[in-house]
Amino acid sequence: MDLGIKERVALVTGGDSGIGLETARILLNEGAKVCLLDLDQDDLEKAKAQLDSLGEVNTVAADLTKQEEIDKARDFIQKTYGTLHILVNSAGITGQTGDFLELADDAWEETFQTNLMSAVRCCRAFIPMMKKEKWGRIVLMASEDAVQPYAEEMPYCSSKAGVLNLAKNLSKAYGSDGILTNCVSPAYIETPMTDAMMEERAEELGVSFEEAVESFLEEKRPHIQLKRRGKPEEVAAVVAFLCSERASFVLGSTYRVDGGSVTGISI
Ligand code: NAD
Repeated sequence: MDLGIKERVALVTGGDSGIGLETARILLNEGAKVCLLDLDQDDLEKAKAQLDSLGEVNTVAADLTKQEEIDKARDFIQKTYGTLHILVNSAGITGQTGDFLELADDAWEETFQTNLMSAVRCCRAFIPMMKKEKWGRIVLMASEDAVQPYAEEMPYCSSKAGVLNLAKNLSKAYGSDGILTNCVSPAYIETPMTDAMMEERAEELGVSFEEAVESFLEEKRPHIQLKRRGKPEEVAAVVAFLCSERASFVLGSTYRVDGGSVTGISI
């Protein structure tokens, strides 16, 4: 299927790793011009080197918790391409986890700043360009955790619930400008984010990495019907579809890529 996005300009935040990197790969294969945004210029250069043969790829380093760095990234996009059509907001952190009573405000604030407010700031910075184009696609990365409670991950779960709500509201506010906003909600994907969780778990339990994954699936993610971790390219395929011309009647939705984890039928 031709996604119909040749020459479209795309910004992928969290773009040098995991789901963001795999999304960038598909968008480039489809002929889009892609700018990767992430925290560290060296890591961005490594990601760019992996993608250079696929098409026109640029990088911009920015910390999305800082408004002035988003302003600089917006100026870079304006100067380099003159516009933006596609925003994939994949940047995110697990943040601090643990007993609710032990998590102070700063734990909540760090997670909300990165997972929710970064998406707010990026959308505010780039929607005006899409409005001028009368065409835009925004994909925000939520999580199964947005609708599925995990008591030891409350800041993360709550921040992702906020992302779901933000996407729905943006779809209502700007759908008539041709800007279609949707969410993708993954669960337990093989990326550096969950690798780090599994390395910590392996150390805590004194087991191998593989044993930590197996026991996590059994004890902590028993609802995942497919009984395995997902792969970043399995999420990226859905994200890329939502960035495309082919998704022209899809907005305000959340697409789960969660191996069947969420059992409810609402949302
Ligand atoms: P990842 O750690 O591989 O990628 C996340 C990227 O975000 C990193 O490169 C990191 O540097 C970047 N980032 C973090 N804070 C940033 C900031 N302040 N400014 C700019 N960049 C920042 O993780 P991933 O698994 O690819 O996660 C991508 C998205 O998917 C995240 O929003 C995550 O919450 C979500 N998600 C992941 C899973 C999973 O199982 N991996 C499940 C559900 C949702």
